[in-house]
Order: sequence, then structure tokens, then C-alpha cells
Amino acid sequence: MQNILILPGDGIGPEVTKQAVKILDHFGGYNLDYADIGGIGYDNHGTPYPDETDAKAKAADAILLGAVGGPKWDNIDFSLKPERGLLAIRKNLGLFANLRPALVFDELAAASTLKHEVVSGLDILIVRELTGGIYFGGPRGIDDLPDGQRKGYNTLVYITSEVKRIAKVALELAQKRNGKLCSVDKANVLEATILWREEVEHEAKNYSDVELSHMYVDNAAMQLVRNPKQFDVMVTTNMFGDILSDCAAMLTGSLGMLPSASLGSADAQGKQPALYEPVHGSAPDIAGQDKANPLATILSLAMLFRYSFNDANKADAIENAVKTVLAKGYRTADIMSDNCTLIGCEEMGNKVVSQL
Ligand code: NAD
Repeated sequence: MQNILILPGDGIGPEVTKQAVKILDHFGGYNLDYADIGGIGYDNHGTPYPDETDAKAKAADAILLGAVGGPKWDNIDFSLKPERGLLAIRKNLGLFANLRPALVFDELAAASTLKHEVVSGLDILIVRELTGGIYFGGPRGIDDLPDGQRKGYNTLVYITSEVKRIAKVALELAQKRNGKLCSVDKANVLEATILWREEVEHEAKNYSDVELSHMYVDNAAMQLVRNPKQFDVMVTTNMFGDILSDCAAMLTGSLGMLPSASLGSADAQGKQPALYEPVHGSAPDIAGQDKANPLATILSLAMLFRYSFNDANKADAIENAVKTVLAKGYRTADIMSDNCTLIGCEEMGNKVVSQL
């Protein structure tokens, strides 16, 4: 039986993960376990990423996380902040590939700030390198200079193996989708991304069925809002991906609808570490009020079935159930519009389950 670790976390995390668990209970046949991460980890164990959580995370076949953080932990030491728990789990599990789909449900196309015809039917996937690049490279720091000025610096560094493994993930995803991959870099200015471009091109030679293109990041940002439907899968560095995926997120118009996956390398037995979580945070302003939209977490569960369990049937079933519930006019407050029925987090979870 497959083992799924649930990490509810803080704020609305427990409320939204509870709705996904209702779906798992409905399907049956999975071993569920729970552990603490983030602020609740600090409260119960003195650290945002307790050893027990790490052990369970390494043993699990897949992990579903809610969200971490909140004002309660604003004044604790930086190294113990809830968000450090997220960095720790990514690092300890080697989660180097972050998958962020931007999918526009027709029923919600009006929620985007872009024109309906630009976003309606949009379905793109951004693959961001998550454990390398300028966020991790050295040397880094802030130094005092002899003339009294200060110097702040970071290093953008990628090595062949880091680029190859993320390119492979993106190429394989493109193969399963519409066979188009756009690699985003700044090869006209940054040597590290000349290497990126060359290594992606090299890896793509093994995937003759994928049409590879390259785009500079400034153009990619513009194209994402001008004509996002030209893209299928995009792959890019850690920092460019951070920025572009948030931009793509806004094409869909609603934070409460965005799922994500973070994947690592498969071991010799073929077991691949994988963490699924909504893009949004712990939303302390609405926590405990049954107002949160659980659909991003429910759609993250669909990704879990698709990518970790290779179960497209269950993934499709969940996504279709979400579409139907939206088509019937049920909305949480964050996606509410005219002539729709306002429901809470629990009720939204129940509607999706009854649709299944
Ligand atoms: P946030 O995503 O928690 O909230 C931003 C706004 O969107 C809020 O108004 C919130 O009410 C709303 N919102 C978010 N998710 C929603 C949902 N599912 N349904 C309805 N409304 C939703 O971002 P923030 O306010 O900047 O951060 C709050 C806390 O979350 C901080 O401690 C931050 O560090 C943390 N955070 C955690 C993660 C994570 O766990 N992956 C990501 C981002 C922020």
C-alpha cells in the first residue's frame, strides 16, 4: 500500500489539507501518516523541521503539505522561523524540480486581470530549478569596503549535472503534454546561462519528439502576459522561475486555485521524493474561519496521483470534479462572483467528494 505523509502546517494549512484527505478517504487504499512542520513544529518540538518529520518524509511515497508561517512566530530566531522548515525539507529530500501549472478554468477566466481571450483555455507548466543557481551559489555576502561603501554580492552558478537533471524532468513532462519545451535564460549576458542553454540543448537531443525553443527571460516575461497560450512547458533557473511562475500564477487570477509539485531524483529502486503543496501561504487573516479555498490543495493531490502514483485516472477524476463543482456555481469567497453560491472550505471539500 502506498504511504502518503500529510504535513498540515499552520494557519489554513490544516483546513485545506483536511479536504484533500476526505478525497483520499473516499478513494481508500492508502496509508496516511501525519507530522509537524513550520510553526507547529516549533511549538511542539522546538524546530520547524523536526527529525521525526524528516524520517517520515524520507519514508513516504509522496507528501502533501498545507502551508507554514504566521504572525505568532514573527519574533523568533531567523533559523527557527516556520519557513525554514520548507527550505529544510526541500534540501533534505533533494527536491530540485518545482512544477507550477497555470491552468485557467473557464468558469474563472473572468478572475484574471487579462482579457478573456488571452487566458481562456490556458494550460501551461513552469518547471523551475529549485536547489541551485543564485539563491544558493557562493561567494555571497555584504562586505565593508575600505572607502566606506558596502558591497553586496551573490553568485549565479550552475554545473552540468544540475542543468541536465532539470532539463530531463522538463523534457519528459513535455513528452507527456503537447511536446513543446521553451527554455528560458539570459544567455546574451550571463555565462552561467550560456552553459544552461547548451546543456538543455544537449539533453534535448535524446527527445526527438520534443520541440525545443529558447527565450531570453525579459522576452519571456513579456510573452507570458502578451500571449501565454504559445507556451506548453517552460523550464528555467531558480530565480527566473521564481519570478515567472508568480507572473504566470496571476494569469489564472486566483491564488487559492494554484497547485504545485516539487520532485527529486529517483533512487535505485525507482522511488522519487515528491512534495505537493498549494502555492499560497498560511493566510493567517482567514485561518480558522472556514473561508479558505481548498481547491489548490485538492489540485495538488491530483498532481500527486499524476506524478507520484502514475494514476492519471484519479488525477483526471479530481480535476474534472473541481471543474464540475465550479461549473455548478459553487465558490469560496476568494473566487466569488455574481450569480454564484458562496460556500466555505468544508463545504467545498464535500462538494468535490460528492462529485467524485
Ligand atoms: P498568503 O498566500 O498566505 O495570503 C495572501 C492573501 O491571499 C491573503 O489575503 C489570504 O487570505 C489569501 N489567500 C491565500 N490562500 C488562500 C486560500 N486558499 N483561500 C482564500 N484566500 C487565500 O501570503 P502572505 O499573507 O504573504 O503570507 C502569510 C504567511 O504564509 C506568512 O507567514 C508567509 O511566510 C507564509 N507563506 C507560506 C508559504 C508556504 O507555506 N508555501 C507560501 C507563501 C507564504
